[in-house]
Amino acid sequence: MKAIVIGAGFSGATCARKLAENGFEVNVIEKSEHIGGNAYDEYRNGAYVHKYGPHIFHTEKQGVFEFLSRFTEWFSYEHRVLANLNGTFIPVPFNLESLRKTFPSEKAKKIESVLKKEYGEGKKVPIMELKENPDADIREFADFVFENVFKFYTQKQWGRKIEELDPMIMRRVPVYVSEEDRYFTDKYQFQPKNGFTALFEKLLAHENISVTLGCDALKRLQIKDDGVYFDGEKTDCPVVFTGQADELLAYRFGKLPYRSLRFVFKDEVYPFQPAAVVNYTVSEDFTRISEFSRFTVEKPQSGKSTVVYEYPLEYETGKNMIAYYPVVSDENLKLYEKYTSCLSAYKNLYLLGRLGNYKYINMDAAVENALLLADKIIGEFNGK
Ligand code: UDP
Repeated sequence: MKAIVIGAGFSGATCARKLAENGFEVNVIEKSEHIGGNAYDEYRNGAYVHKYGPHIFHTEKQGVFEFLSRFTEWFSYEHRVLANLNGTFIPVPFNLESLRKTFPSEKAKKIESVLKKEYGEGKKVPIMELKENPDADIREFADFVFENVFKFYTQKQWGRKIEELDPMIMRRVPVYVSEEDRYFTDKYQFQPKNGFTALFEKLLAHENISVTLGCDALKRLQIKDDGVYFDGEKTDCPVVFTGQADELLAYRFGKLPYRSLRFVFKDEVYPFQPAAVVNYTVSEDFTRISEFSRFTVEKPQSGKSTVVYEYPLEYETGKNMIAYYPVVSDENLKLYEKYTSCLSAYKNLYLLGRLGNYKYINMDAAVENALLLADKIIGEFNGK
């Protein structure tokens, strides 16, 4: 049985691999000239430079970690982020150290003790929940964190107010009532030893997988009333689509909003900044600077260090932009559902991934969802 997988990022490549291992002959079609989707990286100045912004692997999902471990060795890496508040660097997520760096010492002690009493030591509290606390000290603290860490950064990143976005987005970066200074607290925190691109090369290296790069699948795929057509012929084989659902249906119900990014790479001298990622939460047009030499264990021999600045912008069609983030909100999800309810009529067409599912997911969830979808397809097509 043939299968068509559109997109060679984490979602598409994982699904393709699982289908291939279960006897499907999989044709992976990728628009860009490389595999790996937005996790694609290239080795430069002694470090893996992530061409589409920093990708840090972290997961609680043992199955996902074990699956990917078949295709890469890893090195241990715990991600730490600082925010630059007009020259003062504070840990993000905002923790007790950040509190001490930004409040007078007596006030900081008082806030620390009320936070511990109210939420418990070690707790992670979403900023919007903190802001609703009736205690005056906690409110003052919450307002400060909101103003100095979340408000401006979110406006830059999403072009929208926090209140217009799904609360899940803010919950990704809670306030830590502890000294914890790692960005993620998952059980598994590793980076692929030879980079993400090498991982993808192995993931897609299977006798049942063929990969076509530089090919816009939407020029070959048509959704007609009576079924899914590929290269002008009706197909009953599974078609997994990891692109934009609105684009697939030629924006029939209106355009789904996405955020794009403009990356500016620079070669600097190592060390350029005090952390792998520095967020600019109260100033600048860019959201953050990532220094890739700090994502590895070795220091760059050359002394050179590649950094990237991220400038967010609204995604627009026809302008050669990449849609990186779906803008998840109630309104946009309703629009997305119009697309899925229309597409659900096509039983051999499956939407997958950040774009296909219009979900703000991490790499581990992309892999998990892809494995689950492949299992579903294997079950549905078994014996056909
Ligand atoms: N965020 C923020 N200030 C920060 C870090 C994050 O306001 O210093 C908010 C912002 O809205 C961001 C969201 O939290 O888009 C999620 O942050 P995360 O670091 O998970 O974003 P990603 O790395 O996926 O772009």
